[in-house]
Amino acid sequence: MKYAKNILETIGNTPLVKINTLTKDLPCLVLSKYETFNPGNSTKDRMALKMIEDAEADGRLKPGGTIIEGTSGNTGMGLALAAIVKGYKCVFVISDKQSKEKMDILRAVGAKVVVCPTNVEPTDPRSYYSVSKRLSEETPNSWYVNQYDNPSNAAAHYESTGPEIWEQTNGKVTHFVVGVGTGGTISGVGKYLKEQNPNIKVWGVDTYGSVFKKYHETGEFDENEIYPYITEGIGEDILPENVDFSLIDGFTKVTDKDAAIYTQKLAKVEGMFLGNSAGSAIKGVLQLKEHFTKDDVVVVLFHDHGSRYVGKMFNDEWMRERGFIEDKITTAEDLVKN
Ligand code: PMP
Repeated sequence: MKYAKNILETIGNTPLVKINTLTKDLPCLVLSKYETFNPGNSTKDRMALKMIEDAEADGRLKPGGTIIEGTSGNTGMGLALAAIVKGYKCVFVISDKQSKEKMDILRAVGAKVVVCPTNVEPTDPRSYYSVSKRLSEETPNSWYVNQYDNPSNAAAHYESTGPEIWEQTNGKVTHFVVGVGTGGTISGVGKYLKEQNPNIKVWGVDTYGSVFKKYHETGEFDENEIYPYITEGIGEDILPENVDFSLIDGFTKVTDKDAAIYTQKLAKVEGMFLGNSAGSAIKGVLQLKEHFTKDDVVVVLFHDHGSRYVGKMFNDEWMRERGFIEDKITTAEDLVKN
């Protein structure tokens, strides 16, 4: 018999899937690292498990302990799955901008969810950074994960996602494009791929309202770059330690509207029912067209699943209210044309 001994053993080894219609005007092959095949439906399962295992190994996380984290949902899901198998409790602090589905999903897997306001400074005591820190100080036998600065985050992608992409492309990958939040994915995969072939280009996808692109280009942390935005999962108003800017060749910024529309397009044109940052990522690839030539193999990573966004990017009423679409989009032809 061939079976996984528990759900955690099914993490990783996700497929690489070709994008066909949306990238038809690009000269190169575009392959997506399709991370929703992980059991928690996102790439974050990889780093969640690695962060827990590393914390167990050096005694930061003790038997029966409580895992505390500020998470937009996907990291929480990965941590919750591992916590169930390994016997820990979870408390997650989430900002009120995140979709209700994400909060409901975390509660469904037994976590306690604390909701904080989005539009406050990171140093404000009400911010989700501050609240998660305070809870971890007040809760006995707890461990504050801190995915932003926890090196096990990028290490997980260095040890698994990067090698998988290298092997699946037979070392032919020339570009890696991915949305950046904590920076774990881009830094871990980027480091591994550049060690195999220093000519591989690594591009980050950023949002308007986030500091990454400007910081990468100028070295200046410009507070004027920071304002509220709708895209979920990518962009930051801080510089997480997990973003290794030296590995990144450039950033491209995608608007909230384009991210939302391309999330719909992936579903309706490619049959890829994915989260909002996948829309950003594929639009980012299209924006980088001039950087690609005929023999290039571009790998774009899709972080999470569409089910978490059914009330948002997949809801035409929600799209209309924000001016993202004028009339109801119903057909794939409309989406390809636009
Ligand atoms: N997309 C989604 C949906 C995410 O949840 C995250 C994590 N915040 C990212 C992209 C960015 O990944 P990373 O944190 O590894 O930079």
